[in-house]
Amino acid sequence: MPPPWVAGYTLGPRFRPKGHGSDAEHGGPRDPESSRRAAPTQAARSHFAEVPSDLNKKQPYVSLVHLGCARNLIDSELMLGRMAEAGVVITDDASVAHTVVLNTCSFIGPAREESEGAIRALLKRKKKGEIERVVVAGCLVQRYKHDLAAKFPGVDLFAEISDYKALAKSVKALTDGEKTASYLEGPGLREPDRDGARLLATPNSYAYMRISHGCDHTCSFCAIPSIRGPHRSKSLEDLVSEAHELTSGGVRELVLVAEDSTAWGRENAQELPDLVEALAQVDGVKRVRVMYAYPNRFPWRLTEVMRAHPNVVPYLDIPVQHIATPILRSMRRAGSGDQVRKILDRLRADVPNITLRTTLLMGFPGETDADAAEAVEFVREYQIARLGAFTYSPEQGTPGFELDGRVPGDVAKARYDAVIAARDGVLHATQSQLVGTEVEILVDESHPDAEAVVGRTAADAPEVDLIAVVRGTRAKVGDFLRARVDSLDSESNLVCTPLEKR
Ligand code: SF4
Repeated sequence: MPPPWVAGYTLGPRFRPKGHGSDAEHGGPRDPESSRRAAPTQAARSHFAEVPSDLNKKQPYVSLVHLGCARNLIDSELMLGRMAEAGVVITDDASVAHTVVLNTCSFIGPAREESEGAIRALLKRKKKGEIERVVVAGCLVQRYKHDLAAKFPGVDLFAEISDYKALAKSVKALTDGEKTASYLEGPGLREPDRDGARLLATPNSYAYMRISHGCDHTCSFCAIPSIRGPHRSKSLEDLVSEAHELTSGGVRELVLVAEDSTAWGRENAQELPDLVEALAQVDGVKRVRVMYAYPNRFPWRLTEVMRAHPNVVPYLDIPVQHIATPILRSMRRAGSGDQVRKILDRLRADVPNITLRTTLLMGFPGETDADAAEAVEFVREYQIARLGAFTYSPEQGTPGFELDGRVPGDVAKARYDAVIAARDGVLHATQSQLVGTEVEILVDESHPDAEAVVGRTAADAPEVDLIAVVRGTRAKVGDFLRARVDSLDSESNLVCTPLEKR
């Protein structure tokens, strides 16, 4: 039984196989269907001893709606953590919520539209009397500040990105019917050290770990550094201690995220491989996975660490954004197309079984048909089976906004479709090679009434890659299963039979 302050939590759709345009390097727009209410897992419940014991329908429940990438999800988990500590009763059942907290994303146009659409939807519910209070937090507030507040006067509380203690205090005041400020400024740049306990919104099998904040790059399409600030690494000691807490709560896979994972430790004369190696040695860590690695200045010792530690998965998410040199230059990315190719070649030479995931941004100003064709060819030639793509969205305040040569939306969409079609072809071919083989699967979902579980092989990151469905078993979330791949479903996910009886 979950503790009483967790009111019948469920997760929304978690798996969006093949990452359709959903995971730009710093968190692109998500499929609106993927918006989810965050919910705690056993790993985090143990952090909170003081919980209300008399949960009933009269209590002022608070639910949180999360938008955006895995990094923003960590912020949602922190908000939930601070609210739980403040005595707020959290539910993911929106139908009983008194107050809804919306954690927004504002990376590019579609993400912003999604966030604003969600605010409008919540205000409509408030008008109908279905909810009492609407709270809007996160990136959209950080970016548009009081202009956003002026645009949506029906919102009860806006909160910039902060340590979330003040947010939790204000939400508690709202639910208690007390007066509180209607706008919370962020306290400035967030410190890189421990953010405090989180209420995890992922299944017990994996958890995201933010290893640093901010980014020192100046990609001309990206507003993130202006929202999240410059790069600051969290300390190795703090991250190792966070990993211990997560695994002691049952988490098996640590998914490392940041705006730029490659830069971890630089300011402290350390390197990402030092951290990955330390995490691999934490008791109970069965998988460590690195996401969002900027290709330039790649810390090559990471490939040694992947070979030396079986629990460091041979997988790397390395967003390249484009492959045509003129476009990379105008995006202000470091390195040419050939340098990007050389980096991928070396990764595959150093770790022959490595799975690479990347991201392409199509329709950047000045992109020609030939540049787009080069990107499509790159996907085929480099057999990029795990690819997120998105179309360029001009962002005010970024250098890209001023560039001539904007690509019409329908042309950008056609180029996006072309890289996705190339990806799907590669994906089907590479996944088909697994049919008839044995794989090891970490179980992410199971249900007491179902004779089947859902999980992932080491080649797949949660939420953005593929899943494996194992039929005829009742394994628990967090279990590892050996299974035989029988077939693929229509999206190239694996359909398997267990090789062990449970
Ligand atoms: S500036 Fe570049 S590297 Fe930094 S978050 Fe944005 S896209 Fe990623």
